[in-house]
Amino acid sequence: MKQITLLALLLLSTASYSQQPKNAPLPIIDLTAQVNFGHRIVAKRNIDIIVVHSTYAINKDSFLIDAVLNQFKPYKVCPHYVIGREGEIYLTVAEKNIAYHAGVSTLPGTKRSNLNTNSIGIEIINSPSTPPTDAQYESLLYLIQDIQKRHKINHIVRHSDIAPDRKTDPWLFNWDVFMKMVEK
Ligand SMILES: [Zn+2]
Repeated sequence: MKQITLLALLLLSTASYSQQPKNAPLPIIDLTAQVNFGHRIVAKRNIDIIVVHSTYAINKDSFLIDAVLNQFKPYKVCPHYVIGREGEIYLTVAEKNIAYHAGVSTLPGTKRSNLNTNSIGIEIINSPSTPPTDAQYESLLYLIQDIQKRHKINHIVRHSDIAPDRKTDPWLFNWDVFMKMVEK
């Protein structure tokens, strides 16, 4: 029964999950030196939004980080972080810089648009037919909690929340359960 996972425990029980990760599940892999697209260097910005996405490389090596980044490059888009299938966290754009990940978008219940300016984008590598792994859920939870230590985050949203006409990601993501963990 190796696969009694974090998520399964949450689904099976209302008992609190008391072992939230305090340390990075894996070291964060800094790729910022080699990612030279999809962002704008700015002197200063305020960050209060986290946007969660899904992505994969459509044509080949679908879940490999290099293939995913190569797919972003011609479109000049990039998130701040990518979470690989084993839960590895890649930093692709420094948080202090603007990354182009949200596109045309509006924060629900507000008139705020241009959400890239004040957000951090996180891409989970999965597809519309392959859900995120438990390691990815754990790493995302860790990463969001880590970001919250550095920035006063007021909104954690899905790409589909801010661009509902265009976007359906994150795919196969158990959002409500996950957000309960974030809010603990
Ligand atoms: Zn997206």
